[in-house]
Amino acid sequence: MAIVDVTDQDRDTRGTGFDVDRIREDFPILRTRLDGPQLVYLDNAATSQKPRLVIDAVSDYYANTNANIHRGVHRLSVQATDAYENARGKIQRFIGAERREEIVFVRGTTEAVNLIAQTFGRTHIDRDDEVIISTMEHHSNIVPWQLLCEERGARLRVVPINDDGEFLLDEYENLLNDRTKLVAVTHIANALGTINPVERIVELAHARGVRVLIDGAQAVPHTEVDVRRIDCDFYAFSAHKMFGPTGVGALYGKLDLLESLPPYQSGGDMIKSVTFEKTIYNDLPHRLEAGTPNIAGAIGFGAAVDYLTAIGMDNIASYEDDLLRYGTKVLSAIPEVRLIGTAREKASVLSFVLEGIHPHDVGTILDQRGVAVRTGHHCSQPVMQRFKVPATARASLALYNTRSEIDALATGLRQVIEVFQ
Ligand code: PLP
Repeated sequence: MAIVDVTDQDRDTRGTGFDVDRIREDFPILRTRLDGPQLVYLDNAATSQKPRLVIDAVSDYYANTNANIHRGVHRLSVQATDAYENARGKIQRFIGAERREEIVFVRGTTEAVNLIAQTFGRTHIDRDDEVIISTMEHHSNIVPWQLLCEERGARLRVVPINDDGEFLLDEYENLLNDRTKLVAVTHIANALGTINPVERIVELAHARGVRVLIDGAQAVPHTEVDVRRIDCDFYAFSAHKMFGPTGVGALYGKLDLLESLPPYQSGGDMIKSVTFEKTIYNDLPHRLEAGTPNIAGAIGFGAAVDYLTAIGMDNIASYEDDLLRYGTKVLSAIPEVRLIGTAREKASVLSFVLEGIHPHDVGTILDQRGVAVRTGHHCSQPVMQRFKVPATARASLALYNTRSEIDALATGLRQVIEVFQ
């Protein structure tokens, strides 16, 4: 089982010590052959692959420390609790949060957004109030606000994007007004790769006393995130897109804001005491984490943070930027390719259509050649409507991808074009 050939250009091109060959060895699945061709995995925006460190952390928990957390006095329970809470501390440091209590474990970005809609939203958003999102949001950062607005009689306002897929700051400023109660925008757009000017977005909202939630699902695996520098009120992300397990993610919230939220889900662990007359709720973050959580997932999430930290987010961002530039050049050289999403500030995503060929056909033929890309609307149907396409094919890159893999994608695309000529 050979690994895809890595060219010299792939190896430590920028003198950072970033060695893609070494990194690829950490990911067992990258050695997979799919009925013949070598796997070229370019679907990282949907979910990333897992390094051995993460796989081992999860299986080690089940093999050696499996117990429920927080309530046990026996040793295994104490060890499991320590591992779970240590993971919270790693995540806190990774995104620059001030306090451990500001990190709430959730199932993923989707749950984090729903949590804020159902707690902050229901207590702060009333009839005729407004929530601002943008055209480039994932459905997870659209539908919870739509439901909330329907329930509360509030209005959803949408910041438009330009033909390159860039957030229009002027239009945003015009939308902010006295009725705006929340801004919820993505840090990096999953269907386009656009990196949004989140610090400025927050600054403009805060100037009017408006709170901001940032959807960081596509940002945390690719760039250094510092929630204090961004100064956002809430930041949501999923472990599985940053080399951790599925079914776990984190919601960051400023402590005073989280303190002010009503309970989200209720049950065990979110309480201090229960009688039939009165329940006293637990302290943060447990007050927002009802029931037995995904303990193994949280521990694996912590291991993923260790992995990224050891490589260095700056090294990752700079390697991926180089890869994205290369991919853009290679795909742009194919006349039938139309890139969707050409923002000046862009990360890790090559979304495109091939003139006259349905993206599903593109994806299916590429798959026969071992190249895994995603095709469809990427849970961003308003983006598809904005660019007047039913769907795109999307190659989304991660730290283990190489120029050779991008060449394999381009070769595959030329073959697709030949089939349809
Ligand atoms: N937000 C963005 C920008 C995403 O790309 C995704 C997933 O693709 C989500 C939210 C939803 O993440 P999850 O399905 O992990 O909850």
